[in-house]
Formats: sequence, C-alpha cells, structure tokens
Amino acid sequence: MADVVELASKAKINLTLAITGRAENGYHLLDMLMQNVELSDTVRIEKADGIRVETNLFYLPTDRRNIAYKMAERFFAETGIRGGAAIRITKRIPVAAGLAGGSGNGGAVLRGLNRLYETGLSLEEMQKLAFPVGSDIPFCLAGGAARVRGMGERVEPVKGLPPCTVLLVKPVFGIATEAAYKAFDRIIPARTPDTEGMLSALERGDLDDVGRLLCNHLEQTARSDYPEIGEIEETMRRHGAVGASMSGSGPTVFGIFRDRRTAEKAASLLKKRWHDVFCVSPEASGTFS
Ligand code: ATP
Repeated sequence: MADVVELASKAKINLTLAITGRAENGYHLLDMLMQNVELSDTVRIEKADGIRVETNLFYLPTDRRNIAYKMAERFFAETGIRGGAAIRITKRIPVAAGLAGGSGNGGAVLRGLNRLYETGLSLEEMQKLAFPVGSDIPFCLAGGAARVRGMGERVEPVKGLPPCTVLLVKPVFGIATEAAYKAFDRIIPARTPDTEGMLSALERGDLDDVGRLLCNHLEQTARSDYPEIGEIEETMRRHGAVGASMSGSGPTVFGIFRDRRTAEKAASLLKKRWHDVFCVSPEASGTFS
C-alpha cells in the first residue's frame, strides 16, 4: 500500500444560499445549492510521525488553526489509529473567499487518510466525522453539485450546471463569515432564493433560468458595505453573463457564461482592476470514489 497520496481539493460556488431559520444553539439553518468548479488546491499526504502541515502561502497557519491539521487530528482521535501525516497544501483557491478553500482541504485530508490508512470509512461516516471540524466539509467530501441543508450536515446530490463557463472574481477586501450572518439578522431581505425553481432549472439544463435564479441571502448587506460587489456583477452581465451572484459569505463574485470566449473577454476587462480572476468549468461529478 502506498505511503503517499495526492488529492485535488476543489472550490465551490453557491448557486443559491437561503437562511431558513435558527437552530437551538443559535446557528443559522441553511438551504443551499452548491456546485464544485475546476479550480483546486493540491493536498499531498505522506505517512509520518505526528502531524505536520506546510503550505505555499506564508500567512496561513500551519498549526491547529489550519483546518487540515484539525481534520488529521480528529481522524486519528476518532479511529484510534496510531499514525501521523505530513501534509503539503499547494493553494490556488483564494483564502477567506466564500469558495470553501479551507473546507475543501479538510475534506481532502480525510479522504486521503482514509485511503492511506485503509480505514474503509464510507462517505456518510466521513461526513459525520468531519462536520464538527467545518460545516462545509460534508459537501466538500461529496463534491459535484448538491443541495445542502441544516447547518451543512444534510447533503443530497443534485443535477449540476449544464456546460458553461464560470468567471470568478475575488475582490481584495475580506468579509468575516460570522459578521455576514449577523448582518443578515438585521435586515429584511429584498429577495429570497427560489431553491425549488433553481433545482428545476438545473434538471431542465436551462442556463437562462439558472442565471435569473442565482440568489444569496448574504449578498444584500455585503453589497451595501462593498459596492464593488454589485459593480463586478454589473460588468459581468453587461459583457454576456446569463447571471451573476456572490458565493457563500463572499466576497467572491461569479458570473455564468454560455461560452468560454465571452467569459474570457469579460475576464480580461476585470483583470485590469482585480488580481484574482479565474475562468473555470463546473465540475461534472462528485469527488467521492
Ligand atoms: P470555508 O470557510 O467554507 O472553508 P472560505 O473560502 O470562506 O471557505 P477559507 O478559504 O476556508 O474561507 O478560509 C477561512 C479562514 O480559515 C482563513 O482565515 C484562513 O486563515 C483559515 N484557514 C485555516 N486552514 C486553512 C486552509 N487549509 N486553507 C485556507 N484557509 C485556511
């Protein structure tokens, strides 16, 4: 059996994000449609003594504050396996962006350790084990496209985006996830995501309806704090996007385009102002194997 595994840890976008209530512990209850896209970090894991994490970004913590470290620690504690892991993460997904970069790394570490140590955990078992480490990790473990409910623990695969190009722009400012949810509690949302409508648009492969129905409850306050979010979306729409929205708690904005050339033209325009701009395809299938 190999002593090393290398996995791709994919970014996600939110086609919808609805806040549907509050759990007893005060956490927000969600109903989201998430879609992986072909922008990924690489996670390499080697059997070792103890847990070590290194990344190509000097400002990321490599100790217990790193989600990859936390995940490895939980894996060994929960399985009772006496082992260790040297984890090397090559980041390409922007950090603190609403793209589940960190959560994806957590998911990749668990999938990798499950393989390296031949623990044979099923997808459901891994999702249960990972949820306390990060609420987006159950989705990241499944991958592809899914409806995600509760606090992130209920993940059902759904039909993903039809062939298209997704243009991602990560503005330089950051939005703290907790503050974004708190800000939502103080407003009356102008629009509410139509999750069922989006599911039906995906089933029909109707890209115009998908574009029209993109909606994120966290966007309204983000846009009023940072008008750049609305401006990026407007630029995308003016240059051929069927729709544009914000991913997760932001600040990444994405637009959906029918064809790559139109998306690339819009990308070259947006690159004049923003540094983190990516043209990617949606990921067709889940990551679990
Ligand atoms: P999510 O929080 O759902 O994973 P996100 O895009 O909103 O997605 P991340 O990129 O995960 O945010 O980063 C959020 C915070 O987590 C950052 O402040 C970062 O320092 C910390 N973090 C810990 N481990 C990692 C990791 N492996 N990759 C990226 N960020 C990490």
